[in-house]
Amino acid sequence: MKIAVVGTGYVGLVTGTCFAEVGIDVTCIDIDQKKIDGLKEGIMPIYEPGLETMVKKNYEKGRLHFSTNLAESIQDCETAFIAVGTPPGEDGSADLKYVLAVAKSIGENMNNYMVVVTKSTVPVGTAQKVKKEVAAALKKRGVDIPFDVASNPEFLKEGAAIADFLKPDRIVVGVESEKAEEIMKKLYKPFLLNGHPTIFMDVPSAEMTKYAANSMLATKISFMNDIANLCEIMGADVNMVRKGIGSDNRIGNKFIYPGVGYGGSCFPKDVKALIKTAEDNGYTMSVLKAVEEVNERQKSVMVTKVKSHFGSDLKGKTFAVWGLSFKPKTDDMREAPSIVIINALLEMGAKVKAYDPIAMEEAKHDLKDTITYAKDEYDTLIDADALLLVTEWPEFRIPNFDVVGRLMKSKVIFDGRNIYDKQEVKNLGFDYYGIGI
Ligand code: NAD
Repeated sequence: MKIAVVGTGYVGLVTGTCFAEVGIDVTCIDIDQKKIDGLKEGIMPIYEPGLETMVKKNYEKGRLHFSTNLAESIQDCETAFIAVGTPPGEDGSADLKYVLAVAKSIGENMNNYMVVVTKSTVPVGTAQKVKKEVAAALKKRGVDIPFDVASNPEFLKEGAAIADFLKPDRIVVGVESEKAEEIMKKLYKPFLLNGHPTIFMDVPSAEMTKYAANSMLATKISFMNDIANLCEIMGADVNMVRKGIGSDNRIGNKFIYPGVGYGGSCFPKDVKALIKTAEDNGYTMSVLKAVEEVNERQKSVMVTKVKSHFGSDLKGKTFAVWGLSFKPKTDDMREAPSIVIINALLEMGAKVKAYDPIAMEEAKHDLKDTITYAKDEYDTLIDADALLLVTEWPEFRIPNFDVVGRLMKSKVIFDGRNIYDKQEVKNLGFDYYGIGI
């Protein structure tokens, strides 16, 4: 089987590599020449655990190819996946210009029947727009090549993307024809054989499933952050409340950890896009509007705590920040709460010294030289007035608090992820601020 994956980012590269891993002949295509050249030399454009080894292995085996030439690469392919970005437009709607540009190129260059599959997260109705673009390009060429469109949203989590792709909770595929369904079943056969449920449905439902899933997860996070803030006011401990509700299997214990708000390239933009889709169709997503509002507020909760400890003038104060990426095990800085927190501290006159195990190079695009980048977590602490734990990388979980205390100017910890034991840290002489405890 020969397939093309257009867009070689977090989703496209993982998708292409994992399909190659199960024996399919895959070409990953991107317009970014540097990215493609780098991949051919084994240089990964992103950090994702396990990805580099798998890319190199499949590239060397000749099952995984990289190209900037879509016209050449899609010849004789049975399937072409569109996995390019769908960033938020100014009004919050998903910007489809990259997706539709790829659809047009596919129509301009395909030479045989093909299923054109949208893997990017796109609003309901996009597959129909893709269909129109492909058909218009074919018409312009004066050729009549049959094709189908399909929707196959991706549910991988950055930081665990390979495992999520190879062992998914479920695969969702929206199709319009039996032929497309057969081809998608053939493609996903190795996964089906391993018992991972594949749910076939109509295309609009598949498109909506992705937004509904991300919006539900964002809702859980904002709900729990709201509860955490109220716990703090009322003298309850959200860690206990979380355990208390999470043990109810109707609720479950995942995604109910309070923190500094959700970020990343998906939740913020997908929640916004779903609100906008509803608005455009005369409906108001009241719950999701509140989810967004709580999330915006939550990003400044840590800064409010800093202000109530140190006052609003932070001139002469230095803050150590542990963790910059929007979550652990990724270098992705898109919509990372760390940026909001750091910028607020800088505005109040503070100096910031930060460390992240992987995301520092990426962070420099946003934060530039406004902060100091430390060589490790302990280096950030030298003469710091406080430590802010923003991203819960595993290496931050059990620090040597004796060393931490000795290096800092004053022993104050703001724990944005509740990873430390409040009492233990207090017993060691630290002032401790968590979220909702
Ligand atoms: P990304 O920005 O990492 O990658 C997109 C890639 O597409 C870039 O390398 C870009 O150069 C390339 N591209 C743009 N236009 C192109 C064109 N005309 N031809 C070829 N390549 C082109 O994006 P991503 O994070 O992989 O996300 C892709 C889509 O998948 C988005 O819709 C996103 O919402 C969705 N998604 C992302 C995740 C995630 O965790 N990142 C998870 C599920 C779904």
